[in-house]
Amino acid sequence: MTPRDGVAILTIDNPPVNALGPRSIEPLLASLAAALADPGVHALVLTGAGGNFSGGADMRGFGQAPPPRPSARDLIDALEASSKPIVAALEGNVMGGGLEVALACDYRVAAPGIRLAFPEIKRGLLPGAGGTQRAPRLAGAKAALELILSGDPIGGAAARAIGLVDAVAESNPLDAAVAHAATLAGGPRRRVSEFAAPPDDGAIDAARKRAQPEARGGLAEQRAIDCVADALSLPFAAGLARERERFVELLGSEQSKARLALFFAEREAAKPPAGSTLPAPVRTATVIGGGTMGTGIAMACANAGIAVTLVDLQPDAVERARGIIAGNYAATQRKGKLSQAEMDARLARIAYATSLDAAAGVDLVIEAVFEEMPVKQDVFRSLDRIARPGTLLATNTSTLDVDAIAAVTQRPQDVVGMHFFSPANVMKLLEIVRGARSSAETIARALAIAKQLGKVGVVAGNCDGFIGNRMLHPYGREAAFLLEEGASPEQVDRVIRDFGFPMGPFAMGDLAGLDVGWRIRRARNAQAPPEGRYSKIADELCEVGRFGQKTGSGYYRYDPGSRVPLPDPFVDTVIERNARAAGFERRPIGDDEILKRCMYLLVNEAAKILAEGIAARPGDVDVVWVYGYAFPAFRGGPLRWADSVGLKNIVADMLEFERVHGARWTPAPLLRELAAAGATFAAWTPSKDVAHA
Ligand code: NAD
Repeated sequence: MTPRDGVAILTIDNPPVNALGPRSIEPLLASLAAALADPGVHALVLTGAGGNFSGGADMRGFGQAPPPRPSARDLIDALEASSKPIVAALEGNVMGGGLEVALACDYRVAAPGIRLAFPEIKRGLLPGAGGTQRAPRLAGAKAALELILSGDPIGGAAARAIGLVDAVAESNPLDAAVAHAATLAGGPRRRVSEFAAPPDDGAIDAARKRAQPEARGGLAEQRAIDCVADALSLPFAAGLARERERFVELLGSEQSKARLALFFAEREAAKPPAGSTLPAPVRTATVIGGGTMGTGIAMACANAGIAVTLVDLQPDAVERARGIIAGNYAATQRKGKLSQAEMDARLARIAYATSLDAAAGVDLVIEAVFEEMPVKQDVFRSLDRIARPGTLLATNTSTLDVDAIAAVTQRPQDVVGMHFFSPANVMKLLEIVRGARSSAETIARALAIAKQLGKVGVVAGNCDGFIGNRMLHPYGREAAFLLEEGASPEQVDRVIRDFGFPMGPFAMGDLAGLDVGWRIRRARNAQAPPEGRYSKIADELCEVGRFGQKTGSGYYRYDPGSRVPLPDPFVDTVIERNARAAGFERRPIGDDEILKRCMYLLVNEAAKILAEGIAARPGDVDVVWVYGYAFPAFRGGPLRWADSVGLKNIVADMLEFERVHGARWTPAPLLRELAAAGATFAAWTPSKDVAHA
């Protein structure tokens, strides 16, 4: 701390993100005390080292009882008590507890490129160090709620517009903050806590209408709204006390623990294999196949600043792709989510070609052609000839054997599966499929690319369906069996929605298109008849052209131009006919049975996936299902949820179902072992023989 013009500079210094924990706060409290005692200091500036203000509270301290001290709250109390004015100089991340610290200063001067956010909601929490009380006093209830309930970051200009920062400094925010602090020397404090409560402009009611109910994962949202409502009606100290109580309540809640577990699982999944080096970012890419997936993947690359060429052999397919991409960006721009300049920049990053020669010299190739082995192998033979050595060669196959694709090249070590989810420019999950000969370096590069694309990468072994679709299969099958036994698509979908998925399996099938699975099943069934019980309901719907939303009917019917699923008596007749043919007397089925029969098979398949080493960790399965299949995040994922139900209870129910329905309900050995030992998935680690290479 060296005073400049009577201004002392206090620095939050805790690399890499200046997290707020005892290590960073203790020295700050000491410098603050010294500055207050120093008669030569008349004002203070609070800043962060290394171009970042602060990324927020140190997450490792979360859930510790008692919480580590001194905490961000102690720092805020000390800033609040200061007799000398304080200006915060904001750069880089200004997040969570970091933002709350900034709000306890008198003024905030920001760099334009700051990322200012309250991300707590994403962990099932709320800003618990005065953020819900100070933010509305500065920015009004509406803007504060938007920030607190979305968890998304805003930049300097937006923060200035809502009043959370007082000035945006184009050059050096620290210099600007010091200059401003010098003008305040000796003057009174300007404490946000002393500001008048803002009026209720209807924002509270509006937020309540939009927020999820408590039982559907909205516990933190509801409590955060309660806090902001308090800020409008209670004295500051009373609001602060209630905020603290609610924060503690959330910290102990299952919803928050589940989200936090998911956060750590995501971080774990992103870790590169031991011994691999940090790969350089990708600058150039070629995407092969200009269909549904190829267009989305090309956009994902362009969005991440990668120069990409989209190749399709058919000139009309190229033109179609060009039109779709332009249309998608224009729609986003019209909604105000993308500036014209940024849209132009992204469009300019995408080139189009009709020859695989476009793969020469690039860092990354992603193949997304038809799902046919000979077609893909042909493409990879050509790529082997054209691409420079060291190019990462990825296939977006969803069902084919990555090893058989890699085997046609002279460089199987550089080949990997990159399984994107549709729409590829939106969906966060990227399954990275490790071939038998993919090198550790290749896996590390694929994980780094996932991150560069803003996706959550999870490594999966090479098997039919990888992690996600392999689990989807028994879930979808069981849902169809439930129809034959007496449930309706509406009932099953409602039960799954009530559990927290945005959609049930039948509405989802209609959205994705029933024909995709039908084609795959037809090809497979032609080779070998399906084993065990088989429901023909979906096949029969497809045979009469009911492919889902795109044809106006599937499991439901859709009015023209509408996506609202409506029950359809025709589907009932198909279900009833199939039930009779399979010898079922249809009966009323309880919601509880529906939920168990759908979800326990997910858990059981995941247990097999873990035992086989297809997924390295239970958390990987959870991340895949939350980000790729919209499993409710507030339940933490299928395995975290299974732990909360109790594996013993799950196995007991499964044995009961096995008695009635036979072998598909036999619990997987790992599930049975864990249940017998009274253990959980969370505490499970693979034995050496299934550990990943
Ligand atoms: P699509 O039929 O929409 O597009 C395929 C495109 O590839 C077509 O435009 C076609 O002209 C082009 N093509 C075919 N052979 C080619 C070749 N030799 N060289 C260059 N272009 C060629 O298919 P899609 O839905 O985009 O699927 C592509 C791949 O992605 C498949 O492997 C599929 O299994 C996988 N996938 C699809 C989804 C999905 O939801 N659609 C999800 C994950 C993965």
